[in-house]
Amino acid sequence: MLRAYLDNAATTRLHPEVRDAMDSVEEFGNPSSLHRLGRAARKRLDEARQEAAAALKVEPDTIFFTSGATEANNLAIFGVAGLPDSRDASFVTTRVEHSSVLAPIRELEKRGQPVRWVDCDEFGSVSAAAVEAALTDDTAFVSVMFANNEVGTRQPVGEIAAVVARQGGLYHSDAAQACGKERLRPRDLAVDLMTLSGHKMHGPRGVGALYVRRGLALAPHLVGGGHERGLRAGTENLTGAVGFARALSVAERDLETNRQHMEALREQLRQSLQDLPEIQFQGHADERLPSILCFSFPDLDGDALLVQLDMQGVCVSSGSACESRSQDPSHVLRAMGVPDARTQGTLRFAVAADTTPDEIVVAVNALRLAVQRLRR
Ligand code: PMP
Repeated sequence: MLRAYLDNAATTRLHPEVRDAMDSVEEFGNPSSLHRLGRAARKRLDEARQEAAAALKVEPDTIFFTSGATEANNLAIFGVAGLPDSRDASFVTTRVEHSSVLAPIRELEKRGQPVRWVDCDEFGSVSAAAVEAALTDDTAFVSVMFANNEVGTRQPVGEIAAVVARQGGLYHSDAAQACGKERLRPRDLAVDLMTLSGHKMHGPRGVGALYVRRGLALAPHLVGGGHERGLRAGTENLTGAVGFARALSVAERDLETNRQHMEALREQLRQSLQDLPEIQFQGHADERLPSILCFSFPDLDGDALLVQLDMQGVCVSSGSACESRSQDPSHVLRAMGVPDARTQGTLRFAVAADTTPDEIVVAVNALRLAVQRLRR
């Protein structure tokens, strides 16, 4: 019995228009095949790329389809690290990135690449000044996410891009969580590389994209074929790309309505919970996504609360789904200086365009009951 789904930062339901678009894909040829079936599949893939590019207001040849944001982040990082000029150059990132940025950067560090880590403040914000302070003459690459997946804090992407451009390095932003919640305009923001994910915006799981500014050549990370103009080997996921592109264009079309809807539900949640003893909301009060509400208790266990909620048909998360099986406390909350006891007592509620006010009521009542039970 599912009564409320508030784990939309982990993944979202497929949008009916996305499902229809994917259902309509009958081209089964390999887009690399030279015969008519291959050419038909290639045409459909090109159309998907054009649709995605139009939604982002960029040129189609800047979109490279991947298996998701994890791969796009890996491609951006290893793609720059593999360039001859990057040999001894420094890489800069923050302590609040998703594990699919942190792990590749740590891997480079292990291989001897100089890496500089930028701290955030108590709200999870990374200032452009802090990024600037970490830059050196030889900085090749900077990665600062668009918005955080655990606490929802939005970073000043445009300001950071300007600072990095002045120094001459490349700026990458992981916008996986911003998909469907923020206006995504990589060119206006002047970022060089931007990561996108389909399933965070009511598209299919297992497909995403890396935006690569025109004129920027990366070293391929997956090799073994000339697909995606030599940058990403492997027969293209045509149905996935069609779904991804439709999800992106629907999200762009409906953005303002959806943002208002999410904002209202998140506020309903926050107001209904604020009188709970000892509750503390985490993340920035204003510079944040409209979808995520993260909060903590100093005396309760987040996983125990999650189980109690699950038993009542309410699906939420106690942190990042990608790290939910790890026993380590959240690196994001730790970087924000949240005490370990509170970190252990953290929950993340995330609404989406298809969340209903009834779900919020159900979730609030379930949480109140769960808190009461565990405190008894
Ligand atoms: N970056 C961020 C900020 C995310 O929230 C996620 C998803 N948890 C990812 C990257 C990875 O996305 P995907 O599931 O598409 O690989």
